[in-house]
This record gives sequence, C-alpha cells and structure tokens, in this order.
Amino acid sequence: MAKATTTIRQVLNPQREHGYQVEYAAWFAANQALFNRVCAFYFGVIQAHEKILDLSNKDALTALEKLTHTTQSNPNPVMPLCEIQEDIPAMFRRAAIHAALGSARSFYSTLSKWLKRKEKAQAKGKKFTERPPVSPRSWNKSATLYAGQWKERAGSSIMIKVWTGSVWSWVKVRITGREIPDDARMGSPQLIRRGNQWWLHTPIEEQFKSPGKLEKQVTTNEQTKICSVDLNLEEQLAVCTIRTVEGSILATKFIGGGRRVNGLRKKQLGRIARNRRKTGIIAENEQDDADLWRKIRNTDEQVAHLVSARIVQFAKLHEASILVFEHLGNLKPAKGKYSHRGNSKRAFWMKGRIFKYSKYKAYNAGIVTSRVNPRNTSRECARCHGLVARYEEGKPAERYTPGAPLVYCAQCGMKGNADRNASLVIGQRLVERYQKLPKEKPPTPLVAERVEQSTGVVISQVAKSVETQPSPGSARHGDHNEHGTAQEIGMRMVEPVSDIAYQLRVPF
Ligand SMILES: [Zn+2]
Repeated sequence: MAKATTTIRQVLNPQREHGYQVEYAAWFAANQALFNRVCAFYFGVIQAHEKILDLSNKDALTALEKLTHTTQSNPNPVMPLCEIQEDIPAMFRRAAIHAALGSARSFYSTLSKWLKRKEKAQAKGKKFTERPPVSPRSWNKSATLYAGQWKERAGSSIMIKVWTGSVWSWVKVRITGREIPDDARMGSPQLIRRGNQWWLHTPIEEQFKSPGKLEKQVTTNEQTKICSVDLNLEEQLAVCTIRTVEGSILATKFIGGGRRVNGLRKKQLGRIARNRRKTGIIAENEQDDADLWRKIRNTDEQVAHLVSARIVQFAKLHEASILVFEHLGNLKPAKGKYSHRGNSKRAFWMKGRIFKYSKYKAYNAGIVTSRVNPRNTSRECARCHGLVARYEEGKPAERYTPGAPLVYCAQCGMKGNADRNASLVIGQRLVERYQKLPKEKPPTPLVAERVEQSTGVVISQVAKSVETQPSPGSARHGDHNEHGTAQEIGMRMVEPVSDIAYQLRVPF
C-alpha cells in the first residue's frame, strides 16, 4: 500500500436558524487577524534570535515558548506573548509558532542565497544591483486548527474554538462538501477565507494500491500495457499511444486545443507588452497587468489539469500500468516579439505542469510514471529507427520541417502523424531500456537534414511502400474547470529515472 495526501475542502455554513451568518464571518476574521498578529510576533522573536533556526522544529518550538510563554517555572520570559494578548490557548500559540517558523526558514534561506549571489558578484568585481529580500510586512496566513481547537467533528458539522474579537468561544458550524473518507488519516484542518466565504481545508492521507516497480513490470510480463505520451507546444498538446511490452499498438489519443490556448495567451501577453511600452516597465503591480497575468496563469493551470486528467483517464481506460514521457530538456529561448517569447516560455512551463500533474494523478491510479531520453524522438521512425522527413499536408514528403504534422520514413516507407510517431518512439525507448540486446544499426541522418538551412538540398528517395495511419481526429478538451491537488504532493512520487536509456542511444 502507498499513501497520498489530498485536501478535503468543505464550506462552512452559518446556522441560519439562529441568524448567525454575519457573526460567524466576523468571528473567523477576528480569529485570523489574531493568528497573524501572533505569527508576526514570533517572526520578530526569531529575528531577534536567529540561532533558533538551526534547531529542529520541535526544539525550536520549545525554545520559542521558553522565550515568550509565562509559566510558574518561567515567570519572566524575555519577550512575553501576553503583551500581545492574554489567554491565548496553547494549541493556537503552537500553530502560530509553526507558521512563523515556516516563514522564517523560507525568508532566511532566500536571504542567504541572495548574500551568496552578492558575494560572488563582488568577488568578480561585478556590480550587484539585485534588491535584498524583505521580511514579510503584512501577514495573511490562514489559522491552522490543532487538536484542541476543534472537536465533535461529524459528517455535517464541527465545533471550532475561535477568538471572536472579545472572547474565546466554541462555535458549532455546519459543513458541506466532500466528506472525509473513513480510512483516511486526517491532518490539522485550516480555516480559509475565499472572498466572503469561509472554508475548512483538511489534509488527509489516503491509502491505495501502489504501482509495481517499473523494471519488474517490463521484464516479467510481455502483456504489460504502456501509455506513452508526446507533449507538444502546438495544436496537439498531448498524443498518447497504448502498447504492450512485446510491441502491439492498441490505441492512440490526441488531446488538442493547443492553438486556442496559445492564441489566448498571446493576446494577453500582447496587451501586457502594450501596457509596458506605454509605461516603460513591466508593471506587474498595476491592476490591469496583474489581472492579465492572473488570467494567463489560471488558463495554463486549468489546461495542465485538464490535459493531465485526460492522459491518465486514457491510460486507465486501457489498463496501462506505466506512463512514459520524454525528459523536457531545457527551454530554448525563442526570438521575436515579447508576446512570442513569453508565450513559448509559458507553453514550456505548461508542459512541465502537465507532466507533474499526470505523474501525480497516475500514481493515485496505481500507474507508475517514467521519462526517457528526448533526443530525436520526433526525428526517428518508430518502425525502423531511420530518420524521418517531417512535412505539411500537400507539400512534398522531404526534409525536416519542425512542427509540421506529418512524417515519412524514406527507409521503410512509414507514413503518418508526426506526434503519434514521436509518442511511439517514446514508448519504445522505455522498453529498450530493459532489453539487453544491443541495437542492430544506428539510424543514419538524412543528408538534407544537416544542410537544410544553408542549401535547401532535398532527398530524392522514393517511397517503397505506403502505410496508411488511422486518421487522428481531433479530441478537443472541454472548458469546464477541474480541481486538482497536485500542489500538495511532494516529490517523493518521482520514479527514479535510470540513465541506461542514454547509454543505449547512439549519438548522431
Ligand atoms: Zn522507418
């Protein structure tokens, strides 16, 4: 069995019959304001005693309480918390201490990185103009409810202890939304404000069947199904194929909509660029620009969640137990206008997101994810490993035009969709990683490919046979939103990527 953390989000509803609507929201707000005052106070204490950050969280908590909490055995703490407020419940205080510790650790690590960059620049005699990170000026943390701050949790209600602005009070709140599964291990819930609505977010650990080890799956069962995915920056955002280890190709799926996303993003980036020309700066804080950036981010997030959900859905439908992508490599900076450069950067970023979310969603579905060497996945023939020509419909099947939709292999006559071919190659690479036999013959590059740009030489080989590929069709994604919780997941789900694949490949 394996574990995954998800968040259960439930809406907190006022008990209307008592007419408490207004008070609830006001109480939760007062509670949050106090929580943030206590966080800010502890951040200050840590700043005054930086050595605390060398301690573990547990020891840091003890040290901070010693410095602030008045007890009989500690009657005169250095910086008493009671100067902020008397009678703060212990669990409220501890939740705030942990929140402050988290912020302080992150701030000081950013600061030390900045100092290192500064030193390095100065050692080289370079001018260093980067501004230092600033400690948080305002605090907007959501209050975490440790055990003791809540009780009597049932399917539709919970008792919460909050600071109402004048007293500590237990309030009973109705909750609606997904219920906590019976077998889940619950973490501390948080009181979250979204607009005028208050939510209870509860992290839970769910157990599920863990996916089998990749190598074992590939080497012991010829019928293991692999879903290989080619991610693109063009119209087909993802092309997936299902194959068995022994090599039967069972299904293909095209997940399109890239053009629409790119168009949308480009339009928004264009508007940002125009604003920028007017003011001469990238005004990230300007309301108009901030809205545009938010729109772009939301669209990208949403698409990444949609596409990854589709990929995993397809893999599940065909009972694939392995999902494979190619490594994303580095972003090649695009030339041209701001909107174009920005667009390709964000599209690249979105590819990374699609991979990350797919991996997480697959893991929860008992599917293991892997990545293979991306070298020439689009240029190699999935049937014979020869180098393919890539071309536009209606144009001659020769040379390699990046991004063109069709491929033709002069060596074996294979013809088909370029992205589908790439996804097949990706699947093959994974299987080849575990095949001990050396490859017979490395593919030879097309003469035309190397000199393509300077002389435009074309190949003149004639097709020996023609294979018809199934028509891709266009699977468009819908517009509905979808929740995803990949953000809460750590990196522990990464399938260790072997570098055997690299050794198998022959450099061209
Ligand atoms: Zn071929």
